[in-house]
Amino acid sequence: MSTFRLPRLSLLVPLLAAALAAGALAGRALFDDSWLGVSVIAVAQIVLLLSWIRHGQATMMTATAAPAPATHDRFMTRTRRIASSLRDLRSAAGNLPDAVVLLDNEQHVRWFNHAAEDLLGLRRPHDRGADLHERLHASELAGWLHEGAHEPLNDIAAPGRPDRHLNVTLLPFGRRQRLLLARDISDLTRLEQVRRDFVANVSHELRTPLTVIHGYLELLDPEDVPELAPVLGEMRAQSKRMGQIVEDLLTLSRLETQEHVADERVGMAALLATLRKEAEALSQGRHQITLESTAEADLLGSPKDLHSALSNLVSNAVRYTPVGGHITIRWQRSGDGAVYSVTDTGFGIPASHLARLTERFYRVSSSRSRDSGGTGLGLSIVKHVLNLHQARLQIESTPGQGSTFSCHFGRERLLGPAGSDES
Ligand code: ADP
Repeated sequence: MSTFRLPRLSLLVPLLAAALAAGALAGRALFDDSWLGVSVIAVAQIVLLLSWIRHGQATMMTATAAPAPATHDRFMTRTRRIASSLRDLRSAAGNLPDAVVLLDNEQHVRWFNHAAEDLLGLRRPHDRGADLHERLHASELAGWLHEGAHEPLNDIAAPGRPDRHLNVTLLPFGRRQRLLLARDISDLTRLEQVRRDFVANVSHELRTPLTVIHGYLELLDPEDVPELAPVLGEMRAQSKRMGQIVEDLLTLSRLETQEHVADERVGMAALLATLRKEAEALSQGRHQITLESTAEADLLGSPKDLHSALSNLVSNAVRYTPVGGHITIRWQRSGDGAVYSVTDTGFGIPASHLARLTERFYRVSSSRSRDSGGTGLGLSIVKHVLNLHQARLQIESTPGQGSTFSCHFGRERLLGPAGSDES
C-alpha cells in the first residue's frame, strides 16, 4: 500500500503562498493585469491544492507511522483551519460572475462554478467528468472547442442563456489541463448597441436639415451680393463637408450592423479602370498615376462597398501626396489569394500613428486632413468593408517617402475573370 505524508504546516504555508503567487503571476501575464484573471488563476491553483490536501488526508489515514497524540491534534487543527480558508476561497471562485470551467487534458470537466451552470448550462453533479465538447453539442462554443480553441471567441450567445453574450478563452493550465473562462459581456454589448443607435439616429436626423441648408446656399448667387461672396463660398464648402461626414457615419453604422455581404461578382478590370479615372479626376494632372494589374481575377462581394473602400485608398494617396508625386494602383496574386494596393510617394506616416489610423476621426494631421476635404472616417470604412470580406488591411509607410496601403483577399473571395473556367 502506498503511503502519503501530508507536509508539515511549516511546509504547507509556503506551499500555499507559492501556489497563490504562481497563480497571481500567471493571471497577470495571461490577463493583462485584470483582477479577474489574477483571481481566477489563483483560485484554480487553490482548487488543485485543496483536492491534493484532501487526497493527502485520506491517504494519511492509511499511513503506517502515527504522530504523537498532542502533536497530531495541533497539526490537525491547523490543517483544518487552512482547509477551511481554502474552502472559502473556492467558494469565492464558485461565485465569480464569469463562468470558469477546469478541464483535464481530454476536455473532461473537473470543476465549474455557479456562473458556468447559468451561462453554459452545466449541471451538477451530472456534468462532473462529462466531455465538455459533447455536453455543449451543436453550439458555437462546441465547434470552437473542437477546432482547438486557438483564438478567443468573441461575442457569442451563451449556450445556457441565449439572451446573454459571452467572450470565451481557453487557457493552458497546470500539467496539460485547461481553464475555460467565459466572460459575460452583455452589458458592454448593450452599451455598444446604444452607441451605434445613437450615432445612426443623430446622423439620420441631421441629414434632412443639412440637405435643406445646402440647397438654399446653392440657390444664392454670389454675384447678387459680391461683398459676401467669400463667406458664401466657405458656407457652401462647410455644408458640403458636414453632409459628407453624415453620409460616412451612416455608411459606418450600416457596415457595423451588417454581418454578411452580398456575394456578387465584382469585375476587377472595370473597377480598376474606374479607380484610375477617379484618381486622375481628383489629381487634375498634379500626379503621375500608374495602374498595374496582373492578377486576372475578379472578387466575390459587394460591388458598392468594395468600390467605396478601394477608392478611399486612391483618394487618400492623391490627397496626401504633394504635386509631382507618383501613385501606383496594383492588383496582383499573392500566394493563393490576391492583393490590391495603392502606393504613393507622399508625406508618409510616422510609425507611432499606424496602429490607430483606422479609428474613427483619427488623423495624423488634422489641418492637412481638413484642408484636403477629409472626414476622418475613410480608413474606418475601409477596415469594416474588408472585415466583411474576410480581408485584411496592411499599412507600410516611411515619413517623407510615401506609403503603401494593401488589401489582402483570401482565395475564397476570388473568381476567375468572367468567361474563364476558374470559378
Ligand atoms: P481622412 O478623411 O482624414 O483622410 P482617413 O480615415 O481616410 O481620414 O485617414 C486617416 C488619416 O490617415 C488621415 O487623416 C491621414 O493623416 C492619414 N493617411 C491616410 N492615408 C494616407 C496616405 N496615403 N498618406 C499619408 N497619410 C495618410
